[in-house]
Amino acid sequence: MIDAAEVPALAYFGDRLQRGAPLARYTAVRLGGPADYLVTARSRADLRAAVALARVLAVPMLVLGGGANVLVSDAGFRGLAVINRAQNVHFDTIQGQPIVHAESGASLSTLARRCIERGLSGLTWGVNVPGTVGGAVINNAGAHGGDMAAIVRAVEVLPLADPDGAPETWPVEAMTYAYRASRLKGARTHLVLGATLALGRDDPEALRAQARDFVEKRKATQPPGASLGSIFKNPPGDYAGRLIDAAGLKGLRVGDVEVSPVHANFFINRGGGKTADYVALIEKVRAAVFEAFGVTLELEVEVIGP
Ligand SMILES: Cc1cc2nc3c(=O)[nH]c(=O)nc-3n(C[C@H](O)[C@H](O)[C@H](O)COP(=O)(O)OP(=O)(O)OC[C@H]3O[C@@H](n4cnc5c(N)ncnc54)[C@H](O)[C@@H]3O)c2cc1C
Repeated sequence: MIDAAEVPALAYFGDRLQRGAPLARYTAVRLGGPADYLVTARSRADLRAAVALARVLAVPMLVLGGGANVLVSDAGFRGLAVINRAQNVHFDTIQGQPIVHAESGASLSTLARRCIERGLSGLTWGVNVPGTVGGAVINNAGAHGGDMAAIVRAVEVLPLADPDGAPETWPVEAMTYAYRASRLKGARTHLVLGATLALGRDDPEALRAQARDFVEKRKATQPPGASLGSIFKNPPGDYAGRLIDAAGLKGLRVGDVEVSPVHANFFINRGGGKTADYVALIEKVRAAVFEAFGVTLELEVEVIGP
């Protein structure tokens, strides 16, 4: 039974609240069953209202940015999925330093391109990293020698456990960043509302040339198709892709999911895949690499659901 005090949270979204929507269309690998409830948040206010809504519905909440690093179960998600499209961006200068305040649903690659056009350096590596600022902040996304840890100055979060929780601003140190990891990765204790990034200055033409180079490198080494990018983290001093390739696993398939013949750390959903196939392929590859080299590969992607 929902009491009157709870009606505003429900009324806020009205018929924007969907039931049973498949999550596959919100994930980069096009996999994932239905969410019990789903809303798309287009603003900071929507994000805060979504937290209130999850409380009223008394269900767990899953925030999805680009869905570029999550493998959602075929059974879907028992709770409220929040598709984050809150994407305001504000450029500023503080004591001569260029600063960007970005809402968490902003596309990382679009933001990287906007920075390049303004002659702002530090995020050029992000030109072809899929997903949102929020996902990148949580995962410490990075490429081509750069990462979020190097440019995040502060992160604005909303605690999910405290019903009356006010937004908090954490300095970057509070994120305890490490390689593709942070205090918030997999924690689901806080919603990231936005981040403040500290950038440098460079010639836009030089930054454009660097971006073109990154895009070309990627085209040459990474396969097209529905994937999650790198499935495993690189073990210290080696590359997961090299180990998988050396174990002779390129092209290995379970159902319609395949270890890419182009880049062995990419698993492609060829169209008819299931999450169960994807997980089975992950386990096969992990076991074969351990058998061949005694190395236990650690997942970079996050598995959601059973
Ligand atoms: C083709 C391809 C190439 C890739 N290349 C790279 C690469 O070069 N470097 C790299 O680092 N990664 C790469 N990735 C992985 C992916 O792009 C990054 O991990 C990215 O940062 C994920 O962002 P997202 O918005 O899609 O996060 P999602 O996958 O949507 O979410 C990831 C996790 O963060 C949580 N989350 C997301 N937003 C919020 C929020 N606002 N508040 C609270 N929790 C939130 C989610 O609940 C989930 O637990 C690649 C992926 C693909 C598909």
